[in-house]
This record gives sequence, structure tokens and C-alpha cells, in this order.
Amino acid sequence: MTADKDAAPTPMMAQYIEIKAANPDCLLFYRMGDFYELFFDDAAEASRTLGITLTKRGKHLGEDIPMAGVPVVSADEYLQKLIAFGHRVAVCEQVEDPAEARKRGAKSVVKRDVVRLVTPGTITEEALLEPGRPNHLMALARLGGAGRNAAFALAWTDLSTGSFRLVESDIDRLATDIAAVEPSEIVVAEPVFHDETLQPLLRRYGRAARPEPQALFDGATAEERVCRFFGVATLAGFGGFSRVELAAAAALIAYLGKTQMAARPALQRPERVVAGSLMQIDPATRASLELTRTMSGKRQGSLLSTIDRTVTGAGARLLAGRLAAPLTDPAAIRARQASVGAFVADMPNRQRLRAALTGLPDTERALSRLSLGRGGPRALAAIRDGLEAGFAVAAAADTELPDELRDAVAALAALPRSLHQALSETLADQVPLIKRDGGFVRDGAIPALDAARALRENSRRVIAELQGRYAAETGVRNLRIKHNNVLGYFVEVGEAQAKALAGEDGETRFIHRQTLASAMRFTTSELGELETRIAGAATEALRIELEAFERLVAAVGEAAEALRRGAEALAVLDVSTALAELAVAEEWTPPHVDDSLAFTVEGGRHPVVEAALKAGSGEPFVSNDCDLSPPGASRDGFGAIWLLTGPNMGGKSTFLRQNALIAVLAQIGSCVPATRAHLGVVDRLFSRVGASDDHAEGRSTFMVEMVETAAILNQAGERALVILDEIGRGTATYDGLSIAFAAVEPLHEVNHCRALFATHFHEMTALAARLTRMRNATMRVKEWEGEVVFLHEVTAGVADRSYGIQVAKLAGLPAKAVERARQVLAELERGEQGEKRTAFVDDLPLFSAVAQRVETPAPEAHDKLRDALAALDPDSLSPREALEALYSLTALL
Ligand code: ADP
Repeated sequence: MTADKDAAPTPMMAQYIEIKAANPDCLLFYRMGDFYELFFDDAAEASRTLGITLTKRGKHLGEDIPMAGVPVVSADEYLQKLIAFGHRVAVCEQVEDPAEARKRGAKSVVKRDVVRLVTPGTITEEALLEPGRPNHLMALARLGGAGRNAAFALAWTDLSTGSFRLVESDIDRLATDIAAVEPSEIVVAEPVFHDETLQPLLRRYGRAARPEPQALFDGATAEERVCRFFGVATLAGFGGFSRVELAAAAALIAYLGKTQMAARPALQRPERVVAGSLMQIDPATRASLELTRTMSGKRQGSLLSTIDRTVTGAGARLLAGRLAAPLTDPAAIRARQASVGAFVADMPNRQRLRAALTGLPDTERALSRLSLGRGGPRALAAIRDGLEAGFAVAAAADTELPDELRDAVAALAALPRSLHQALSETLADQVPLIKRDGGFVRDGAIPALDAARALRENSRRVIAELQGRYAAETGVRNLRIKHNNVLGYFVEVGEAQAKALAGEDGETRFIHRQTLASAMRFTTSELGELETRIAGAATEALRIELEAFERLVAAVGEAAEALRRGAEALAVLDVSTALAELAVAEEWTPPHVDDSLAFTVEGGRHPVVEAALKAGSGEPFVSNDCDLSPPGASRDGFGAIWLLTGPNMGGKSTFLRQNALIAVLAQIGSCVPATRAHLGVVDRLFSRVGASDDHAEGRSTFMVEMVETAAILNQAGERALVILDEIGRGTATYDGLSIAFAAVEPLHEVNHCRALFATHFHEMTALAARLTRMRNATMRVKEWEGEVVFLHEVTAGVADRSYGIQVAKLAGLPAKAVERARQVLAELERGEQGEKRTAFVDDLPLFSAVAQRVETPAPEAHDKLRDALAALDPDSLSPREALEALYSLTALL
């Protein structure tokens, strides 16, 4: 019908369209009674993502309007899914009483407004958050244009704790600085977002990185905006901030305003992260070491999940945060070590404390929900229980404590007792999730509430009595007094008994109200009166409860600072006892950490591989030493480089990583999986694994590895620790070998850093003769009746061969193929002695000086085969002689 097409939208649809137009990039949850409804494309998207039914409601421009709805009571669950899929949701509520709207006219709609945007970085609901993971919202600001000299700053907050931090950065460090925070959402000014050079970095975060108007980041008004938020005239009291830091802070605050609307999150004062105070770990290194997530993105199997023995959500978050950002100041590291050490030494205290912390509700997050006006009775109960645990811990604490723990205990002792008293006197032991229906205030707490409740209870009894009396008087045994929202209280009898209620002359106290198929309903004046009293009592009781609720929330708000410090203190105690528990259970030892360049690990182990072996085959993990310390006194010279050769599956990667992990663990203040360790702080950690082809990026393996290696060579200073695992392996031999050479020599000559380098290019081992701080090491292997046995032991020296063929045989390669592989290997090894190899080294101008020496392999590189090969002069051999030589060589294998 044409009339339909031109029909104006209904007033409700008009309102919907207006609100949706203001929030184009969000799914709009439009409140209709007990549901949030989604329309048009939003409905289709929600139906796809959530698997909910897509239906229709009315028409717009002649077309059906697609609709999907989720019940308000279970909205959290749906929100979580939508957020996980990268959506943002605008929650639109009715903001007036429907009665008000009706007063304006029959056709007017209830006023609605978006009260909140739900985004990955701004959620606070317990159901939407991972308990053990911080949820960071970050703003990235840039000043000074797109050039290399631009200044960058990051500001981030965890709304669930109110922490607010800032750090200045630059183009080279940006990816590393962002990765240390592991943000759930990053807001970036539009022009910066679309800058080509930053695209690869931001792409890593997918839809969690989002462009926002440049105005949010305006540097000129930034300071004033930050001051206004904190209600101060100047930021001088907070410490000095650079312009770009202020721009990031102001953008973060503006974005919070945009998403939280009227609710004002209680942020802590901004705190600057001092550049250089944290170990820098770039994203590739984090990924390859699987610090907090495995390569496939899971927590299970990461270092974090292996070492996490915390018993509270806040403790788990603190540990995750510490692991993501190890320290570089030996004194700060030692302070944390002392806390762990205190609990290693004192088992009864450790166990008592852990028992007290176990099962504690998440006070930090309860506090933030209350401050945002989203907390219910359970949040108050969480504060009460947190306070109780705080006092108990403070009372039981030792007097002789290391600084960090003493501060924590002091924060607990300073928790407000009056608040605890108010909460425990007022709140019932078990409270409902939402405040709407009351029932959370303890009996006996508020006399007026007790009176209203008594009246309510009393009325129920009166009703029961009334029902008995009516039944007796009328002789209708199954007469019932019931209640519903339409009629209120009424008397109900079966149709057949209705006559008994009709009085003579039509005069009766039972007034007929409703006839149903098999029943009739009546009311009486007595019932009417009772009804008023009961309703009054219930309303009064609820009013009193809600008033008490607001009073308690206000009291919590006033004590927020002390409560936050208390919650932090409990988290510190949880982490310290958990690391102590781990150290005792796994036999870890405290490392000696100082500002030398030492790196000595005795009996080191890989915690994750060890745990996997324990859970799997039950085979013991073979511990290994590693010594990259400068020779002589630890302050002399530079750290060493170990070049590790050995067969595949020999344990090279495991060894490399375990040493990197030991450095990380040491610098978060933990004990380490070793019998003894002495580590000079590492300021930067690099770990690279030889790439397989990276087609997605459109770059060849060679290019990727060259770029990555170049980045390390440009950035690693003498305090860096570099782990290179089979760099060059995915490339044609000479490309790969050239990358490997191109990395090792400058690391030794220019960067002077400590490094571990695993390779299957045996040519590399010859470098040890020339590079004074380079040592060859190899994974020990035993041969037994033609089979290889991996001992997983690291020893000095060079692998006599790669055992690739034996490994292939182990893997089930057919015997013929293995035999053929032996022949080819022999031929290749012969080829390597010829001109090509020297030519290859000569081709690299940078290393031409090295070439002379490479031709003379280090003594340990000799074996029978090599001797035999060296004795051959390929140019003087006839083809037949060459073939004979080949056979005699294979016989040596
Ligand atoms: P590579 O890098 O030399 O190929 P990996 O480090 O990947 O070898 O080790 C292969 C497997 O050997 C591991 O998955 C682990 O099961 C086992 N392994 C490695 N190192 C050890 C060790 N020190 N003790 C016991 N088993 C080990």
C-alpha cells in the first residue's frame, strides 16, 4: 500500500531512529519493559552473534522492521558475548515514569536516553570480566605530527580498580610500551589511527583499537580538563606532566565521560611510569615466550598460568600485571623478594594467611561498581567481608616484616572500623544480588524497618485467620484468599459454592468482582482495609531499606581511598604468599639480582615444560647451567654469547627460553627455577624464533627475519638479553646462514649484550675462534645401535653433526628415504668444503674479515667425516673418483 510507504514512523520508532543516529557505531539496546530490544541491522547482527530469534515488529517505510530482544535480567550474559565479538553496546533506558508520559497525551512515548556505552575497556560487571586479568582502557596521544620526532604518550586505567597511569613513549618503543599494559581497548585520535606507520601496530588489537575525534586529544585544553576532573586548580601536587602526557590523560577522561555519561568513575591520581623502570619486552618477545598467553592466545599453558598460586581475583590481577612489566631497579626487586622470602621462611603464617584470603570476594571490583552506581547489596557485602579479612590479617601479622609487607599491614590496620561496624550491623549475612526487592537489611538493625516488617508479617497472619473465619461462616471449605496485581486481595470460591456467599436480599459483605470459567472472585471491605495496610507496610519497609542502602554506599564512597589501599594490600599479601608457596612446592631459589652484567644460572629449569613433563610422561626435566657473565669480576667487560648447536628435539629452544623466563621471574621479584642464580638486571629482552613464511604480511621469510634482526641490532644495549632461536631456518640455506652471521657478529662487537643463539648452521661454530666472548655449546646426544637418544644436557663444544637423518628415522621416514638422505647429506657436506662456502662469506663485505678464519674450523669441529672431506680436492677428482669418494664418505657415517 502506498499509504503505508509514506506513513510517518510511529512516535516510538521516531525516538528509536533519533537515538540510533546519535550512536551509529554501537548496537543499541532499547529498553521496552522487561526487555532490551534491537531493531533493523542491529537485530540481525545480534541474532547472528547471540543465536537469538530474529522476529518483526511493525513496519517502517512499508517494510517489516526486524527485531530481536534480550531479557533485562540476563542482559549481562549477552553483553559479554557481544563485547567478546568486538561490538560496542549503547544501553538506552526509560528515564521517566511511564505515568508521566501518559499525562502528556495518549500518543507520547516514554523518554529514553542512552545511559551508558558498554565497550571492552569500560566494563565493570563481575560477570563480564575475567577475574584474574586486569582490564585496561588506554588512550594513545601523539603530538608533533607524523614524523619520526613525534612525541607519544599512553594513559591507561583499570576502571575496576581506578588505577590511572601515564607513560611517555616514542615511535620505536610504542609497541613495547603498549604491550606491557595488555590493553583491552585503545582509543586513538582519528588522524593518528589512520597513519600508515601505526597501522601494523594498531592492527594487532583489531576492533579494540578505535579512532575518536581529535578534539578529545586537544593539547591546548588538556591540562584544564584533567584539573576539572580531579577538582583541583593545578596539577602541581600530582607531579609534573609533559604536554603529550596531559593530552593522553585528557583523552582518557573525555572518553570515560563519553561512555559512562553521568556516572563518574573514581580514578586515582595519575601516576607516571618512569621510563626505564620496567624491563622492555616487545610484543614478538612476549608472544614467543608465552608470558601471559600462549601462541594460540590461551592462558592455560602460559608462564602465568603455570606460576599462579594466588587465591583472590585481585591477587591474580596483580601477579599478571607484575609479570607483564618486570622491574629494572635491583633495590625494588629485592624489596619484593624480601616479601616472598618472609613467607618462604614462615610456613604456618603463610598457610594461615592463604586460608584467610581464600574465597574472599573481589573487594576492588565491588568498590568500583559502587562508585559507578552499579553496585548492589552483594557489592556492599563484599566490602564488609574484605574489611573483616583485612582486620583479621592485620591482627595476626608478624611484627618483624619487610617494608612492602609492613606497608600492606599498615594499610589494613588503617581500614575504617566504623564502616565495618555499620555494614555488619545493617546488612544481612546473605544478601540478594539486586536491591530492588529489599530483603538485605538485617532484622533488628533498624527499628522502623522491624515495625514495618512486623506489620507485614502480622497482616499475613490476619489474612490467614480471615480466610479461616470466612470459610467457617460460609461453610465453603475450600474458600481461599488470594492476591494478584490487578485485583489485589480477593476471595475465591468454586462456581458451585458462589451461592453460599450471596446474602439474603442481595445484601452481602462479599462483593462480586470477577467470574472465571470455574471460579468466582469477591472482595470485602475488611480485605480492602487490610490490603492498604499491607501495601503500606511493604512500601515503607522497602523505602527504609533503600535509604539504608544509599547511606552505606555513601559511607563506602567516603572511605574509598582507604578501602582501595586495603584491597591493594590484600593483593600484595596474596601475591607474596603465592610466590612463596610456589617456590617451596617447586624448589625454586631466590636469585641474586644486582646492577652487574652477570648472568649465571646453575641447575636452571623451564617451569612450563617441566610442568608438562610432570603431567604427561612423568619423565624428569634435566636441569642445565648457563653462564653469560663477563669473565673475571662481574663489572668487567661485557656478557657472553652462547652459540648452541644440536639436533632437532634436543632441547635447544627449551634451554634458550628457560633462561629468558628466569630473567623475567627474577625481575618480578619471584624465586626462580634453578639451584642458584646471579643476574645483573636485564633492561630489554628480545626473543625471536626463526619465522616460517609470513604470507599474510606479504613479506618473505628472509625479509621478515632481516627486519626483526635489524630491530634487535638497533635497539639492544649492553644490558639487553637476546634469545635467537634458529634465525634463518625457514630460508634457503645461504640466506639463512647470512642472517645468522649478520646477527651474531654485531651482537658481539657492537651491542655487547648477553645472548643465546641456537642454530643448525654448523659453520657458525667457527666464529668462536675469533669472537672472544662467544662460546660454543651443544645438546648432548647419545647414539645407541644407530638410534639417537636425547640427553637434554647442555655441554661446551660443538655438535658433531645434526643427526637430522636419525631424527627423521625416529619420525618414521621409510628406510629407503633415510638411506637416500644419507647420500645427499654426504654430497652436500662435500660441497661445503669447496669454493662456494668461502665465496659466500666473501660476499658479505661486513664480515670479509671473518672469512679467513671461518675457513679454518675450530678444533672441536673436527670429526672423522670432516677430516676425510678436508682431505679431498674436488677439482682434481674425476667423476668416477668422486662417486667412490662419496661411497667411502657415507661409510664413515
Ligand atoms: P629443539 O629446540 O632442540 O628442537 P626443544 O627445546 O623444542 O628442542 O625440545 C623438544 C622436547 O624435548 C621438549 O618438548 C621436551 O619435551 C623435551 N625437553 C627439552 N628440554 C628438556 C630437558 N631439559 N629435560 C627434559 N626434557 C626436555
